[in-house]
Amino acid sequence: MKIKDILGQGRPTLSFEVFPPKTEDNYETVEKAAREIAGLRPAFMSVTYGAGGGTSRYTVDIAAALNNEYHVPTLAHLTCVSSSREKVHQVLKELEEKGIENVLALRGDIPKDGRTAHDYRYASELIREIKEKGDFCIGAACYPEGHVESANKTADIGYLKEKVEAGCDFVTTQMFFDNNILYNYLYRVREKGITVPVVAGIMPVTNVSQIKRICQMSGTYLPSRFKAIVDRFGDRPAAMKQAGIAYATEQIIDLIANGINGIHIYSMNKPDVAARIQESLSEIIEQA
Ligand code: FAD
Repeated sequence: MKIKDILGQGRPTLSFEVFPPKTEDNYETVEKAAREIAGLRPAFMSVTYGAGGGTSRYTVDIAAALNNEYHVPTLAHLTCVSSSREKVHQVLKELEEKGIENVLALRGDIPKDGRTAHDYRYASELIREIKEKGDFCIGAACYPEGHVESANKTADIGYLKEKVEAGCDFVTTQMFFDNNILYNYLYRVREKGITVPVVAGIMPVTNVSQIKRICQMSGTYLPSRFKAIVDRFGDRPAAMKQAGIAYATEQIIDLIANGINGIHIYSMNKPDVAARIQESLSEIIEQA
């Protein structure tokens, strides 16, 4: 099923992201976690793509298992900055053959050594190509706090519009920990004439190393309410996990209460975290 049709139903949806293993050794563990999350019957699941494309086989295989064995609509991520056009075509062909109808089209991060494949510069170019290649529902990334490389938010939203005009059907946000940032962003996005569904990406932070990574990578703003949780519980893993799940759940309740229907959880391959959030929201999702 196409994700644009799921989002178009106008009801709250809960979906989960998993990431593929880096090596064959971990494949079974990841597949088991993905299967357990699929057992929660989310609206859809997404499977990320390894930055350089070297593990694309795992993305395709896990997406295919979720889609065809567990019958959960699946969104396969695909990055282009380190991939040749030939590689992109090959992955799209495999996805089509395995019946995966949804692709999240991304540029990917520029590798540290600066070496890219030169066939694509921006996600919008990939979107245009996917649109030409087949009947995929296409998603793209967006950044409520602005992408780290962009000069300012206005330019960033301008480039988002380019992605939508290139053919993307919905966008999913980078994680954020203050809902007001999303509400302000949405106002600006809609003002710019971008009308596709915006799915809110929520990260349940369950340990301190995760937070350090997040801040290093994306410079995401951490509200003082959130910092207080980390200060108080950061060195007590079970308490931090419980508090992180509660914080994410509260964020989601506020989003749904304010009419944001699409909620995508960066579940970090943790079925127990996904299950606890889903359980806390069951009536809210059902009755909203
Ligand atoms: P683009 O939309 O191409 O934007 C990249 C930068 O270029 C931005 O600063 C933008 O403002 C600027 N820009 C865009 N168009 C133009 C233009 N025409 N002229 C000048 N500047 C322009 N990474 C992975 O490796 N694998 C994944 O699976 C993955 N999944 C993700 C899922 C989500 C929901 C999100 C939010 C991010 C994900 N990422 C993933 C990270 C993503 O690849 C990086 O953030 C990357 O740096 C940007 O990708 P993009 O598709 O947003 O790029």
